Order: sequence, then C-alpha cells, then structure tokens
Amino acid sequence: MAKPDYTHRLERLLEISRKLNTSLVLESLLQTITEAASELVDCDDSSILTIDEETKSLHFIAGPWFELDLMKPFRVPLDSSVAGWVFTHAQPVVLQDAGQDARVFRAVDKALNFETGSIIAVPMIFKDQTMGVLEAVNKKGNLSYNNEDILILETLASQAAVALQNARLLEKTQEAYEQMIELDRMKTDFIAITSHELRTPLGLILGHATFLRETASDEQASQMDVILRSAMRLKEIVEEFSNVENFKSGMARLHLRPTNIQHFIQEVVDSFQEIAHQKDIALSYDVTRANLTVGLDAEKIGVALSNLIKNALTYTNTEGHVLVKAEAVRSSLWVSVSDDGIGIPAKDIKKIFERFYQVESHLTRRHGGMGLGLSIARNMAEMHDGRIWAESVDGHGSRLTFVLPIKR
Ligand code: ADP
Repeated sequence: MAKPDYTHRLERLLEISRKLNTSLVLESLLQTITEAASELVDCDDSSILTIDEETKSLHFIAGPWFELDLMKPFRVPLDSSVAGWVFTHAQPVVLQDAGQDARVFRAVDKALNFETGSIIAVPMIFKDQTMGVLEAVNKKGNLSYNNEDILILETLASQAAVALQNARLLEKTQEAYEQMIELDRMKTDFIAITSHELRTPLGLILGHATFLRETASDEQASQMDVILRSAMRLKEIVEEFSNVENFKSGMARLHLRPTNIQHFIQEVVDSFQEIAHQKDIALSYDVTRANLTVGLDAEKIGVALSNLIKNALTYTNTEGHVLVKAEAVRSSLWVSVSDDGIGIPAKDIKKIFERFYQVESHLTRRHGGMGLGLSIARNMAEMHDGRIWAESVDGHGSRLTFVLPIKR
C-alpha cells in the first residue's frame, strides 16, 4: 500500500530539518529551505525576504539560484505587496488566483519574465519577532493550496527564522571580537610608543639630576633627591611598559640558567626590606630546601616576584605580614606571596591579571600603580610554561602563587 502523501511529506520535512542542523552557513541553509518549500508544497519557486532597515522595505535573501542575483536589488514595499502584508501582520496569506490581484507586487515578475498565478506566504517568526517572509508561488497542476501547505511552510519558516537569528548573533559576536582585537592592538601600540618616547628625556633628566645632586648644597640636595626619586619612579613605569611591549611583540626571550632558589628569593626579598620597614610590615621568606636549584630566567622571574611583593606591601596595612614561600612539589617549583592585607573581591580575582585592570576605580583609588604588575608577572610565568593565580578572602588578605615546571 502506498504511503499517505502527508506522512511522506512529514518524513521529508524531518529529513530536511536534520540536514539544516548540520550547517551554519546562512546562505546554503536558506537555499536548502527554499528548495524544500518548492518540493513539499509542489510549486514552481520559493523565496525568502527580510527587512531592509534602511529603506524599510523587504528584499530577497534566498530564491531560485539562477535568478537570485536579479532579485536581490529589488525593494518590495511593505504597504503594497503580499510579502509586505504578511510581514506587518505576522499572518499567512494564500492567493489561489493571484493573476489579477492588485496586492501582488508585479515589478519582480516583469523583470524576471515570470507570471505569478498563485501565491502562499508565511511569516518567519522568532520569539514574537517577525524576521522575514517565506513565500511559494504557482502550485503545480493549477491545484489549490491547502492547510497542510501552510503548516509545512510555517515549519520551514520557523527554521529559517532560527537560522537568520543565529547568523545575526554570530555576526555581532564576530564584530565585537574584531573590535576587541583592534582595541588590544591600539593598547599595545600606545604602550610601545609611550615607552619609546619617554625613555630619552627620562634618561637625560636622571643623568643631569644625578650630576647636580653630587655638586648640590645641603639645602638643594633634599630637593634634588625628590627629583631623582620621582624620575626613578617614572623609569620603573617605563620599564613596566617595556616588559609588556617586549612580551607582546615576541621580543622577550628566555635565558634559562641554574638558579639557587634560596639565594634568589633572599635577594629579591631583601630589596624590599627597606620599604617594608617604612610601612612597619613584617616581610619574611621561607624556602623549604636550601640547596634547591632550578633552571629559570632569574631576571624575568625576579620581575614577577617583585611585582607580587610590591603589591603585597602596597595592599597591606601597617603592622601587617607578608610571607614569601618557595618549595619544590614533585617536578614543579611553587612560589607564593601571602599577606594579611585588604584582600581581593571574588568578582575581580580572575581579572586582576589583565593589562591595566585595577580593583579600585582610577578616579577614587588610594594606591598608585598602572595595573600592569600582575599581567607582567603572568607573562613571565607563562613564558616558563608556568601558571599564576590568586586566592583571597576579601578583607583578610591574599595569596598569589606561581608554579613553574622544573625542567631537567
Ligand atoms: P597595580 O599597579 O594597580 O598594583 P597590578 O596588575 O599589580 O596593578 O594589580 C592589579 C590589581 O590587583 C591592583 O590594582 C589591586 O587592586 C589588586 N591586587 C593585586 N595584588 C593585591 C594584593 N596582594 N592584595 C590586594 N589587592 C591586590
């Protein structure tokens, strides 16, 4: 016994839906939908129109492939076309005898040398929003459209609406992504230009100020010291910029050397004792194995560790504690800097490693800094194939840890 026609059409519809789910390319998806519409409604041609926001009229985005280029330039008016009525009313329209019907927009027929005899058009709806119109023309054998035809066309139209919506979302995501890349490039260029332009005048200020400091009277000496300290601070900022820029441009190279961890940590910690003392913070270190030697780029890891200690001292109040700990755990070196300072809010804990990210707004912040220290520390750790992260209980201190694989 032959299968009932309706069941056969539903099977085809299911088959087509499965096929649609395998592609993300909008043009071919819509093409498949119009071909399926022509086949299942058994008519000459099908097409899809969507709104052109600029001209507030409809335009074709899918149709018979051999005529689509001719159809695309047409703007179909919303107020004097069948597709326009379907779009604005979000309801289907069936014209069994479209030959003389004044509602049909004839310009396309004329251009394509085509005659619309009958037409069925349904809205493409996604979440209550009409996104376009799917229409099929000239049912074969001069037959009339029936309710099944409407149902099938509506099913295909909702698939087309989803495809269109996905494509729009994808486009928006792509645009946002490209903007982000562009912004990132501008940031990198800004850093490169600023550090380059600042270096020469800063070198001159430091050189001349050092010379004047040597010959200055006691009274002038303290003022020269202020100039020198400020210039040194500017030099540090320029160096931070250079570190970021070198990493970004791929100029930074690793120079791995066997490094005694005890000596290395002690040296870095000692360089901060003066600052810790001034703030009345107890700065100490703990290295579990005195003879532990690891291959690393001591200059780069020194910058990373210094940035962590600098932060711990900055964000810890007077009489606080900062502890630097280093230990070998299986085949990796763990270095952590813990403090009992102000802590880091949970919402910021991942973001603090981004360039220029600071927890406090730059307008109201009480601490200095550029928001670069941790991003540099992360770059340095990652260059060693390591990882860095932060843990904190807001208000009760933080622990920043980096782990480097010990390469043999
Ligand atoms: P900055 O130059 O602002 O210190 P960083 O990249 O070094 O930049 O740090 C980013 C932000 O992370 C800081 O502005 C600060 O808000 C937060 N932060 C970093 N370390 C600590 C810490 N030990 N305790 C509290 N907050 C910290």
